Amino acid sequence: MLEQRTAEQSAIRKHTKQPDIQQYINGRFVESESGARFVNHSPFTNEVINHVSKGSKMEIDKAVAAAKKAFKEGPWGKMKVSERMKYIERIADLIDEEAEELSYLESLDTGLPIAQTRNMAARAAENFRFYSRMVQTRMHGEAYMQDNEFVNYTVYSPLGPVGLITPWNAPFMLTTWKVAPALATGNTVILKPAELSPLTANKLAEIIHKAELPEGVFNIVHGFGETAGATLVAHPDVEAISFTGETVTGSAIIKNAADTLKKTSMELGGKSPLIVFDDADVDRALDAAVWGIFSFNGERCTANSRVFLHKNIKDTFVKALKERVQNIKIGDPMDPATQLGPLIDKGHFEKVTGYIEIAKEEGCEVFQGTVPEELKTGNYVPATLLLNATNDMKIAQEEIFGPVMAVIEFETEEEVIAYANDVKYGLAGYVWTNDIKRGHRVAQAVEAGMLWINAQNVRDLRIPFGGMKASGIGREGGHYAILEFYTEPKVIHVAIGDHRIPQFGK
Ligand code: NAD
Repeated sequence: MLEQRTAEQSAIRKHTKQPDIQQYINGRFVESESGARFVNHSPFTNEVINHVSKGSKMEIDKAVAAAKKAFKEGPWGKMKVSERMKYIERIADLIDEEAEELSYLESLDTGLPIAQTRNMAARAAENFRFYSRMVQTRMHGEAYMQDNEFVNYTVYSPLGPVGLITPWNAPFMLTTWKVAPALATGNTVILKPAELSPLTANKLAEIIHKAELPEGVFNIVHGFGETAGATLVAHPDVEAISFTGETVTGSAIIKNAADTLKKTSMELGGKSPLIVFDDADVDRALDAAVWGIFSFNGERCTANSRVFLHKNIKDTFVKALKERVQNIKIGDPMDPATQLGPLIDKGHFEKVTGYIEIAKEEGCEVFQGTVPEELKTGNYVPATLLLNATNDMKIAQEEIFGPVMAVIEFETEEEVIAYANDVKYGLAGYVWTNDIKRGHRVAQAVEAGMLWINAQNVRDLRIPFGGMKASGIGREGGHYAILEFYTEPKVIHVAIGDHRIPQFGK
């Protein structure tokens, strides 16, 4: 009864206007120098949620200067690890305290169903706790004896001010996935959040402010990618850029970072295959295939947007897919029963619906659920199947980033591996079979950074996250973030004997 009332209450807490958002620079919430602002719209109603301070070069310069000063002169990089981790764990605790508010803001801003953003807030807190543990237990170097003449060892130092640029899909989870390791390793941060989803980034600034991190350690500049983002990337005092977003943006950032020889990490787009063989547990494969593309409104980098079905099971699988697609609950993102919400904005809605038109022109049978009449003011695209697709179609090659599944038939293992790999992306892949040898064989043959066998996308934070080909360069997660990206290894050679030194000129 109590549970039911709580669910009802959160369903009632609907779409409200939010206070306007300022920049967070050097420990203060401030307006941009120009006073310029941009509008943040609701994906559910397309009404104004609030106005956001629009940062430009001036704000980036100030934020970078603050982060540089905090790194060079402040206590952050010099304090004991255990002391720094108290701040990191305090951030996690504050996220837990604000979990309900965070999931509400995330759903309000992005249209993601509240039942799904609830898990994200918990995961975001875990990102901080995880990196606190990692830094305390795994941030160690190597040591070698060299012929009893030298001891050589490595130490890992933070880089300095780092720029983090994040997308609008699952923004709080993805942002904390970068901020936690960056801060835990002793760097200072300038975050440029996606302009379409500023609410939870601002909440993170409030949380970090409350956790009383030294000023300048964490800064946020809100603004557009081509201006604020590009200025951050080009700034000579920024040591590294960690980016998650579209593949084309990733290449623009790499080019822009070249003049200052910046370290970059790229988490980019995907067009991931899910392969179902005829010996698979098809009921579980069905659950995973449906969840993998229709959860998070289909705006998910690792979504199984291409589903390959063995010809022996195709007809029954498609029949079951059609039933699911018709039954997926489309609704208000604030309703805990909603499974599919509206897309982030009108522009993205037009992109996704444009691809559905292309699918028709390419000869697919389009099968969709129905958007209820009362939701038509939102950016809703119903769960959509593109049936009888072939892998060479545009809709099977390009990232649509919406609740749209292309369904493709195959006959042999060789054929499906070739299809899976005949795409520019290589982020994730899913293989369903009860033949254990084939499962491993196919998973190893698919060109992707992350494969799951007989599983949906379940993450292990200790394992590297990222893609190959056009899906990215580098990895996040586990020790990759702390030892390979956010720190620089330094080698110390110590002579412990009197090795021979050539005596030139003697
Ligand atoms: P996007 O590339 O349009 O924007 C991402 C961020 O980059 C935003 O903050 C934006 O303002 C900024 N930006 C844009 N142009 C820039 C420039 N020239 N210089 C610097 N910054 C710039 O991506 P999006 O539409 O926000 O996100 C969706 C994309 O992200 C999809 O392609 C999705 O697959 C990808 N994604 C990948 C992963 C992963 O881990 N591989 C995770 C989530 C999302």
